[in-house]
Amino acid sequence: MIIGGEWADSHTRESFEVYNPATGAKVDSVPRGDREDAKRAVDSAKEAFKGWSGKPAIERSRAMLRIVDAVRAGVEELAASLTAEQGKPLRESRSEINSFANSFEYYAGLIGRERGAQTPFSTGEGYFVVTKRPVGVVGAILPWNFPVSLMGWKLAPGLAAGNTFVVKPASTTPLTDLAAVALLMKTGLPPGVVNVVTGPGAIVGEELLDNPGVSKIAFTGETATGRRIMEGSAKQIKRLTLELGGSDPMIVCDDADLELAAEGAVWGRFRNCGQSCTSVKRLFLFESIAESFLKSFVERVKSIVVGNGMEGSTHMGPVHTPEQREKVESMVADATGRGAQVLVEGGTPTDKKFSRGVFYMPVVLGEVSYDAQMAKEECFGPALPVFVVKGLDEAIERANDTAYGLGSSIWTKDMGRAYDAAEKIEAGTTWVNSPPISRAEVPFGGFKQSGLGRENGVEGLDHYYETKSIQVLDYGKGRKWGFPI
Ligand code: NAD
Repeated sequence: MIIGGEWADSHTRESFEVYNPATGAKVDSVPRGDREDAKRAVDSAKEAFKGWSGKPAIERSRAMLRIVDAVRAGVEELAASLTAEQGKPLRESRSEINSFANSFEYYAGLIGRERGAQTPFSTGEGYFVVTKRPVGVVGAILPWNFPVSLMGWKLAPGLAAGNTFVVKPASTTPLTDLAAVALLMKTGLPPGVVNVVTGPGAIVGEELLDNPGVSKIAFTGETATGRRIMEGSAKQIKRLTLELGGSDPMIVCDDADLELAAEGAVWGRFRNCGQSCTSVKRLFLFESIAESFLKSFVERVKSIVVGNGMEGSTHMGPVHTPEQREKVESMVADATGRGAQVLVEGGTPTDKKFSRGVFYMPVVLGEVSYDAQMAKEECFGPALPVFVVKGLDEAIERANDTAYGLGSSIWTKDMGRAYDAAEKIEAGTTWVNSPPISRAEVPFGGFKQSGLGRENGVEGLDHYYETKSIQVLDYGKGRKWGFPI
């Protein structure tokens, strides 16, 4: 763990192991932190807050630019660590580490460049000034699917605004988060500004919810855990951002570039082995193009090379854990049990070369019932249900028929139609003719049960500030205080 700028063991000296999902081999072990360890980290972050929050913006900006350089120079090492513990192909790991650096670059450029304003009261008696100040110590609770880039989505705006952090990585992916924060420390970030405590969510995470020294929780993970985080934060009315699950629709219209859309659907569904919050999780095809789209799409899916992410030929790595694979298997069985047509069979491979890892070959299902679990819930793995619709109204109605509202995409050459659909789809993001790609400058988050607040962009920075209003009454403007009012 990293507490107060130093490598730290748990006070109990207990540890747990991290495994490679492609080989089943142990990668390393990390301390099993508990409430005591988390308390120590919060105290260290509280102490560091005094200095970090008081630094001029330009100094925080420079510190963040040093981080950008260090991370870019360390891409290969960090990417190899990420693939070993998470499973994604090395190419995707490199892109995730670069995205971590991009977040710091973007926010380093935003701070210290605000336009000042002193606004007169509407009554003319004086004026007010609105200032921003950091929230305090932030507990960042992370998932395993993008452990590093999603840490960047929190650290970069949070540090830019002057906050300090206790990071709680997912239990199956703590190693690259630790390596990345160790690198941050090497660039001269003051001790205690970012601390990392590894250990179970139900213990370390709960301490962050309970500890009065933590002012804000920035959480990414499942909607069910998000509900618990919201309950736990209620006691002290902690500030909260929640980035939760999604069941993202992709709509392919009759005038879409079908080859582009087929490529986008493959990327959108099977990148990171289908384990992205904004993966394409439901595909809606206009009736008139369904057959020709599926012909090209199914061929592409069948040519996906599944294997160990360390091998350059691999397109798609293993599922992250056996539990995740079981969930996907069960959702596929539920859909086929309700009469879905198997377009790409896939599933758990029997070939000996896959026997040690948690592999699952891509699955595509047609004629899926709208009652199937896959039609409404989040399928977090490489299986895709396809639905044929008469037109846009039906596609949007079906797309919105879920408790989630994270991402969505529409594929059409008609921009008017695209804008109209984007306005009607209940989701935080609609991509037009693009698979889901997140960018540091674009606000990201969910409608409905997909989350609360936004990360990235200027809005992402706002969530790391408290707004302070200073109201100044001009002397001699004739107001008298005291009774009668
Ligand atoms: P998860 O909810 O199981 O775990 C997330 C984190 O919460 C882990 O660090 C875990 O240890 C911790 N945790 C668990 N119980 C806790 C508790 N009681 N108190 C405090 N912390 C606790 O999620 P996961 O399986 O790691 O991630 C996958 C999920 O994340 C998917 O649903 C996916 O859609 C979602 N996700 C959302 C976004 C987004 O930006 N909206 C991005 C990536 C992933």
